[in-house]
Amino acid sequence: MPAFHPEPVAETAAAQELRTLKRLLYAGAAATAIVAVQEWTSGLIAPWNRWLEPTAALVFALCGYGLGRWTRHTRALRVAAVLTFSAFLAGNMLVQLFLLPPPVDHFEFLTTVYWLPLCYGAAFLFLPSTQALVASLLVFGLLSVPLWATLGIKGYLHWGPGFPELAAQIGIAQFVYIALWAAVATLRARYYRTAEHARLMESLALADPLTGLPNRRALMARLDAELHAARRHGHALSAALIDIDHFKRINDQFGHADGDQVLQAIGPLLQGELRASDHLGRWGGEEFLLVCSHASQAACAELAERLRAAVEAFDFPHGARVTISVGVATLQAGEDMQGLVGRADKALYAAKEQGRNRVVLHAAQVQQRAPDPVSA
Ligand code: GH3
Ligand code: MG
Ligand code: MG
Repeated sequence: MPAFHPEPVAETAAAQELRTLKRLLYAGAAATAIVAVQEWTSGLIAPWNRWLEPTAALVFALCGYGLGRWTRHTRALRVAAVLTFSAFLAGNMLVQLFLLPPPVDHFEFLTTVYWLPLCYGAAFLFLPSTQALVASLLVFGLLSVPLWATLGIKGYLHWGPGFPELAAQIGIAQFVYIALWAAVATLRARYYRTAEHARLMESLALADPLTGLPNRRALMARLDAELHAARRHGHALSAALIDIDHFKRINDQFGHADGDQVLQAIGPLLQGELRASDHLGRWGGEEFLLVCSHASQAACAELAERLRAAVEAFDFPHGARVTISVGVATLQAGEDMQGLVGRADKALYAAKEQGRNRVVLHAAQVQQRAPDPVSA
């Protein structure tokens, strides 16, 4: 069955997610760069951040660039983004706790701590929920244990009075942040599942299950869009209604399964002859509709004739010849979808009347296309 991807169907949830993450990473890179410049110019930048902040900004930008492009490394890029952010924050805090002489610079310490919730957020956005939970608790644990250790060992000398209470509040807040992000991740996963389901439902609602071609509903939407475009831009639009000749006989002689096989084979056979601006679908039963945008009646009829000849020459699995009749009409001023398809149907009826296996045009009045072999 030929793969059919109806255009109105939304992009996959995974593609949507990737696009959002890319933007987030670019925003993260920009924010880190701005923070670095602002700290640098105000003289508040810590010596180690002169290297860490530009490096982090670069990694975020690279990960953003690579997501969706380097498809084999998507997972690695996601992990790299989270690791960089966590390592940047954790490194900053550990340096302040252990490498700098006491007392700790409260301003420096707190301006690092308030980024921690973003670190959990990044984990929940970029990693699967369980891994994100583990990563968040790990970051929190890796930072709290040394923090409390310095409080225990060095006490107020290191921190100044009142800091243990503040540290306790910061610690409790971290649990709340992690729980909040976990809830957001659950909701997000539920949203993606629903979006994916809706996408699947939409594609099922627009595809014909037997042939994989767009069904009547999809064709009507396409024809409607093409009609509006043709009216707005004043270009030609033609439609061809294609009907398999004596299909009932095929069913009767070879069985319904062979009839189905003919329908399945005809889809790709016809589609192989089309241009990108032609749209083919199953109109119903053994009828197909071809919408040719930017095509005059003569151009559409020429294409229809190619389709007719291709079907006539094709060796179908059941071993007998199959032919089609085609009615062609071109959009007239003030005409709607029903009018256009109705006239194509009249031309198709005329083709059947005239002996089948032919293409007939509908102009002002039904007329047979000349010269042969089109109307032979
Ligand atoms: P004509 O040349 O005038 O078009 O004759 P026809 O036999 O093709 O047309 P008719 O309308 O008499 O019969 C169409 C047949 O198509 C009847 C119906 O059972 C069959 N048909 C419709 N849908 C399917 C399908 O999905 N599978 C199969 N095997 N047959 C189908
Ligand atoms: Mg029919
Ligand atoms: Mg038929």
